[in-house]
Amino acid sequence: MSNEQVIVLGAGIQGVCVALAVSRLGYAVKLIDRAPDCMLRTSRRNEGKIHLGLVYANDPSMRTPLLMLEAALHFAPLIEEWTGNEIDWGALRSRPFTYAVLRHSLLHPDVLIERYVQIQQAFSERKRDRRLHYLGLRPKELWTHQPGELPNQILRNGDVVEAIPTAEVAINLIALREVLRRSLHRCPSISTFYRHTVDSVRRTAGGFEVATHTADGKESRLGASLVVNCLWTDRLRVDREFGIETDRRRVYRLKYGLWADLPAELNDLPSLTFVLGPFGDIVNDGLGKAYMSWYPSCMRGWSTDLSPPSEWEVAHSGVVPGQIASEIEQLSLEAFDALVPGLRQCRVRKLSGGTIFCWGRTDIEDPKSELHERHAAGISAHDGYYSIDTGKYTCAPLFAHRLAQELKSSIVTA
Ligand SMILES: Cc1cc2nc3c(=O)[nH]c(=O)nc-3n(C[C@H](O)[C@H](O)[C@H](O)COP(=O)(O)OP(=O)(O)OC[C@H]3O[C@@H](n4cnc5c(N)ncnc54)[C@H](O)[C@@H]3O)c2cc1C
Repeated sequence: MSNEQVIVLGAGIQGVCVALAVSRLGYAVKLIDRAPDCMLRTSRRNEGKIHLGLVYANDPSMRTPLLMLEAALHFAPLIEEWTGNEIDWGALRSRPFTYAVLRHSLLHPDVLIERYVQIQQAFSERKRDRRLHYLGLRPKELWTHQPGELPNQILRNGDVVEAIPTAEVAINLIALREVLRRSLHRCPSISTFYRHTVDSVRRTAGGFEVATHTADGKESRLGASLVVNCLWTDRLRVDREFGIETDRRRVYRLKYGLWADLPAELNDLPSLTFVLGPFGDIVNDGLGKAYMSWYPSCMRGWSTDLSPPSEWEVAHSGVVPGQIASEIEQLSLEAFDALVPGLRQCRVRKLSGGTIFCWGRTDIEDPKSELHERHAAGISAHDGYYSIDTGKYTCAPLFAHRLAQELKSSIVTA
């Protein structure tokens, strides 16, 4: 066990998982976030799909699908280990996704099926480890395929050419946040510093010093022997301040989604992912509510700067300007209604936006875009300073666990 201190920058899902994982090794953790509480930014404003890798079938190396699969199978077991909770995953799971292959798919259905077969093979191998499960389930098959068979709610006008029911689901982000938040705030070795903005990190003789300020201008300096940067939108800026440069091309995208009540006649709609390309998703929570995001109308910002524009911050805190909100609502419901008649009748309750970071330079309609790949996500280590690119919500527990394993082995060898 260690008696050292770790400062974790950012209390999104990544920072919270890191704090929980490393506190179990005996580290005292200081967790800093500029928001008033944990997991209020991107980790609250996304679709909540725990990816099995199927969306990333356009990575010919298959490294992204396999990373997602590995992360998905560790997601629930790791959270259970850290929280000590028997979590009722069944209450958190959405209706499973059907992958609806569109006529304009970047990959032909036969190629998609080939890649899904590889994911299934990898799943069957990983499943031999009895500790692993997918949100409480250990399905035999991740997907099935009856050629030409479509869910009865889908319009049969030739736009959807195949439908592949899968075991993939999304989770209720608010409920999972509560589970993690409770454990975080109960842990005596974790201190939280909310409403503190991280300005910079510098190396000192004894480790590191993190400079922060509060909204009322109060500056502070916190010290520790290790630092873990999980800032997502501000990660690269802080890395650069610290001295880590990258010339790799990156993209931040501001993307919205809407929450709506489904019309009663569509209550039994499967969750749907339209593949493969700039299309969209519908998550049916099984209780009459759906999260919907149609890429062409919901993707509203593109930045290749070191950090996304400060104007996006307002969307991160849950505010969507009225004009944008009504445009997104109208265009998205029209697009979905053309595929699933009746969706135009949804009653929209709220919109939320968040930022997606990834390496790359062209958007997803480009079959060669790096945005189809996320395998470069994960931990980079710089002699006691760690920076984590979460990649996806799905990956956060796995990356936190990998970091804890690395710290554990350094304690053993020290
Ligand atoms: C619309 C949308 C849909 C998505 N859908 C999915 C999905 O279905 N499945 C999936 O796996 N992933 C999805 N993602 C990606 C996923 O949401 C992110 O990968 C994940 O939430 C990132 O977690 P994080 O903890 O790194 O970032 P965050 O949750 O953003 O946490 C970072 C924290 O750092 C804080 N912070 C930032 N800068 C500073 C600073 N200078 N000082 C102090 N604090 C600071 C922020 O307040 C924030 O709390 C989606 C993303 C979006 C936007």
